[in-house]
Amino acid sequence: MKRETEDDLEDISQPKLSKYGQPQTAAASATVQCMESESRLEAEQDGDRISFIGMPSKPKSGLDLRKTTIAVHWFRHGLRLHDNPSLLDAINLGDELYPIFIFDGEVAGTKVCGFNRWRFLYESLEDIDRRLKEFGGRLYTFKGDPCTIFSQLIEEWGMNLLTFEQDPEPIWQDRDNAVKRLCEERGIKCIERVSHTLWDPNEVISRNGGSPPVTYAMFQEVVSMIGLPHRANDEPDFRGVKLPICEETFSTYMLPPFEDFGVKMEHVEQERQLWIGGETRALELFEVRIRKEAAAFKAGYCLPNQYMPELLGPPMSLSPYLRFGCLSVRRFYWRIHDTYTELNNVISPTQLTAQLIWREYFYTMSIGNKNFDQMNGNNICLKIDWSEDQEKLQKWTNGQTGYPWIDACMKQLKQEGWIHQVARHAVACFLTRGDLWISWEEGLKVFFQYLLDADWSICAGNWMWISSSAFEKVLQCPNCFCPVRYGRRMDPTGEFVRNFLPVLRNMPLRYLFEPWKAPLAIQEKSGCIIGKDYPEPIVEHRIAASSNREKMNRTVARLEDKFSYCTPSSKTEVLEFSWLPETARGVDKCTADDLCEILGI
Ligand code: FAD
Ligand code: MG
Repeated sequence: MKRETEDDLEDISQPKLSKYGQPQTAAASATVQCMESESRLEAEQDGDRISFIGMPSKPKSGLDLRKTTIAVHWFRHGLRLHDNPSLLDAINLGDELYPIFIFDGEVAGTKVCGFNRWRFLYESLEDIDRRLKEFGGRLYTFKGDPCTIFSQLIEEWGMNLLTFEQDPEPIWQDRDNAVKRLCEERGIKCIERVSHTLWDPNEVISRNGGSPPVTYAMFQEVVSMIGLPHRANDEPDFRGVKLPICEETFSTYMLPPFEDFGVKMEHVEQERQLWIGGETRALELFEVRIRKEAAAFKAGYCLPNQYMPELLGPPMSLSPYLRFGCLSVRRFYWRIHDTYTELNNVISPTQLTAQLIWREYFYTMSIGNKNFDQMNGNNICLKIDWSEDQEKLQKWTNGQTGYPWIDACMKQLKQEGWIHQVARHAVACFLTRGDLWISWEEGLKVFFQYLLDADWSICAGNWMWISSSAFEKVLQCPNCFCPVRYGRRMDPTGEFVRNFLPVLRNMPLRYLFEPWKAPLAIQEKSGCIIGKDYPEPIVEHRIAASSNREKMNRTVARLEDKFSYCTPSSKTEVLEFSWLPETARGVDKCTADDLCEILGI
């Protein structure tokens, strides 16, 4: 991981463009741009407090504060320079711009996430800093409560414009409302812009009469009334604004070394890093992805990531980058449609970006529902009598269920931080209604810790669906994924399982997905004795699934007509959501209510 070095800091004194596009040295610009450090607010960095020692104060004489717009752009998610409308506002309206990030203990999921996601966030911030440096600026970072920090920035830096991207999920509302109130009280202009989502979730709700559209089809109908999403903005042009850096004091605000955060690896395998955070990487991967989409369109199909699930391929998904906002969702949406139209000369079908609509749908569904991530107090979630079983939960979490397909998926999640949709389906179904009958809330916590793309709304929404707690009509269809047959289907050569479970490396393919069935002689020959080198199955799937089906039927009987839960509007919706491979191939076979060889018990 790249760290700040002396060399990096010296870059600041390299010639850079002034407001008029002329090269200007930082030393020269510092006298104009850097503000006096007369005020020494000696609040050392400690807990909520931040250090303002040497903080530039009032603008230097000659600059009229009343005419100088000192803008602060507050990054939280939205960790990109491209297509960032609130950043553009700061550039266009500001005379001076300070891009900042505040570590408040919760921002961007830092309260619940583990090592991989922390590292991804950190790299995304490093990348923003590096990119800003190209324009002569830097990223300022703080630690503490945003309101306390902004109060001091108003006092000490003369901040009079604050801009940020809307963080739509309800868990961020208290923070943002408090900051907006502070700005109002202090007469500070505050601009919040919608660009994490294609549509403003609040507008969708208000167009739907004040509540979220409960089905995906309703959601699509409402957004079609609003109209197509805005196109992405052009690249920002920083020539219209100064990006002041006070060289003597910047070291106080620069991104601290990663080690300072005290986040430790949970597994040695995490050292081997596959996913690299940041806008630069996001844009590179994006180009690869667009080429893949174009190749699929030429070959006559779409949704290439689902068509052939690549469980062991190089990173291809953009979901972690969309999560942190390293990639603009609007750029993603429009490039896919434009690519299709250019190649086929016809209007592109909405289906091409159906997955992005699921993303919007879950964000919108969670608006105003702070309990969206739990069963109690969550009015769209069915109350199911899940069991509590810490031992089984631990085994599931650690990839020790004795079902190689499930265990390999969990190992990949913990080591690499990203697993394919089909793997998420498999492990989520296994934990909940399929085999272990443990609450989806427990699985959600594990995903929050390990998943790079973990979204509070999207993750909870998907978990509720898979566990039949909301959205799903699986209550009318208590079938579940078979952890043996599903594995065989998705990993026909066994390469994926062998990669994450080296103990089964020599197990013949015939027994790989149910190794307990291998005769002892074969176990011995493979160097893997079940019950000693690899666990016995945690439950017998056939029995567990059958008993769970009974429990689900009893839940249905108990709740019938007493609860109006959200259900998909059609079978197509279930197919789209489930990403079952037959769906992509156009064979109408694997549905949530028709038995096929991987569904059922
Ligand atoms: P693509 O096909 O490229 O889809 C494009 C984008 O659409 C994705 O990057 C993602 O942002 C969005 N998307 C795709 N599928 C879904 C979906 N089912 N619901 C909502 N948005 C979707 N996705 C997350 O982004 N964050 C999560 O926390 C998350 N948790 C999940 C938990 C469970 C139990 C399950 C079953 C799925 C979860 N997903 C989550 C959805 C999905 O698995 C990932 O978005 C997908 O695997 C990303 O791969 P991709 O980028 O290749 O998808
Ligand atoms: Mg300007």
